[in-house]
Amino acid sequence: MNTHELWQSTLGELELKLSKAHFTTWFRNTFIIEYSPEKIIIGVPNTFTKTWLEKKYHKDIVEALHKITDITTRNLIFKVENKPTEPTQINFEKPNPAQQVPIAQQVSQTETIQQDHEDNTDEYYGFTTTEDRVQQTYSNAINANYTFSNFIVGKQNELAHAAAQAIASQPGTSYNPLFIYGGVGLGKTHLLHSVGNEIISQNPQARVLYVTCEQFTNDFIHAVRGGKAKEFKDRYRNVDLLLIDDIQFITGKEGTQEEFFHTFNALHQANKQIMISSDRPPKSIASLEKRLLSRLEWGMLVDVGAPDLETRIAILQIKCQKRQQDISREILHYIADSIQSNVRELEGALNKIIAFHQFKNMEPTIESCKELIQGYETAPTKKTVSPKYLIEVVSDYFSIKPEDMLGKSREKRLAFPRQIAMYLLREEIKNSYPAIGEELGGRDHTTAMHAYTKISLLQEEDEQLKEDLANIKQKLYS
Ligand code: ADP
Ligand code: MG
Repeated sequence: MNTHELWQSTLGELELKLSKAHFTTWFRNTFIIEYSPEKIIIGVPNTFTKTWLEKKYHKDIVEALHKITDITTRNLIFKVENKPTEPTQINFEKPNPAQQVPIAQQVSQTETIQQDHEDNTDEYYGFTTTEDRVQQTYSNAINANYTFSNFIVGKQNELAHAAAQAIASQPGTSYNPLFIYGGVGLGKTHLLHSVGNEIISQNPQARVLYVTCEQFTNDFIHAVRGGKAKEFKDRYRNVDLLLIDDIQFITGKEGTQEEFFHTFNALHQANKQIMISSDRPPKSIASLEKRLLSRLEWGMLVDVGAPDLETRIAILQIKCQKRQQDISREILHYIADSIQSNVRELEGALNKIIAFHQFKNMEPTIESCKELIQGYETAPTKKTVSPKYLIEVVSDYFSIKPEDMLGKSREKRLAFPRQIAMYLLREEIKNSYPAIGEELGGRDHTTAMHAYTKISLLQEEDEQLKEDLANIKQKLYS
């Protein structure tokens, strides 16, 4: 085995463990520079990655390497290095695990994409800057209220926050574009403006342009209709930072996509920072042109999730502070507990509570808040699912009849979905093993136990199964 093969196998292990976004973000363009059982030097593309790998992934890497080599090497040294080192031979006998094949393919795909970038963008090298006639229209749209200092960092947004800070401190060099995606009201727009504000505070002359995808589209359509294509180009291609919010609305707009593609290339070429938000990852934006998709995936893709309780309370606290409101932690806790999945609603509820109590000139209490919050209660109460329905969904997913799932046949075609149903009855509905056996055609509880253990273990290594389970769960609750 050589160092390259060792690293590919290690990446294979890590890929199974991490989310796709994290894996690609942190492990793309990494390699082993030097290997010995006592010390491994790993090449990384920039200091930002170096810090993250040191801080967050040390243990995972040690474990993954251990799986491949049977050797525990804790001394990992990360070194910023752009060019992969020539592989060197390692002398220990250990067969390559089969998983390394897909990862190798993935790496080579990325390489072709980069190649494709160099080929296609030549024609845009020649773009020249013009005078600052539109300077005053640039930073206007940046909302001064959305800054890093009033953005609360929790587990679900720390990566997005760190990446946003990284591009704000070194625009155009670390991650370009930075693509942040996630559900409504989770702070994406806030982060876009934070980067804008930070860059303006460092350099008030910086040309920072924030637009929603819709504004971009409209600007473009007006420019084309009014014969103002040049003005449009001057406006969008001469910025230092372009922030595009809610890019998902570009779906189906071919002309806009084409124009955005060229804008993107021009800015990227000139090392100008681009930051984009979306409610979904680029791959899930319907009818997105391939070449644009590949651009969006070039830099860093990072998701934001719903904040946990502590983060929600902290968000409420900071919003209260801003409005100079003193509301007890008990009440904030209560609000944060009632509204779980959307910060915008959380804030809406808080505003309503503040307004109501100011108007009535009284102190908020849990009781008085309860009523006000009622309309908001969006805590994601999982739809309750009956065992019968679960069995139907699983059989439907595998295109078999529910009766067959309950029947005696042990054919693999039926036995596997049956085991999945058993697993889900335990995992999702928390049925007892005897009850599960009963549901599935009067089987013994040990059969249910066996199925549960089997599927639990299997899904750790079987990507297909993982995906099946995720799909089934989605069907179950939608
Ligand atoms: P999105 O663009 O993801 O739909 P926004 O950025 O508009 O969400 O956020 C909605 C509201 O919630 C904004 O007022 C924003 O300030 C607030 N918010 C969201 N996340 C945070 C956070 N982590 N810290 C502070 N405020 C937040
Ligand atoms: Mg938004």
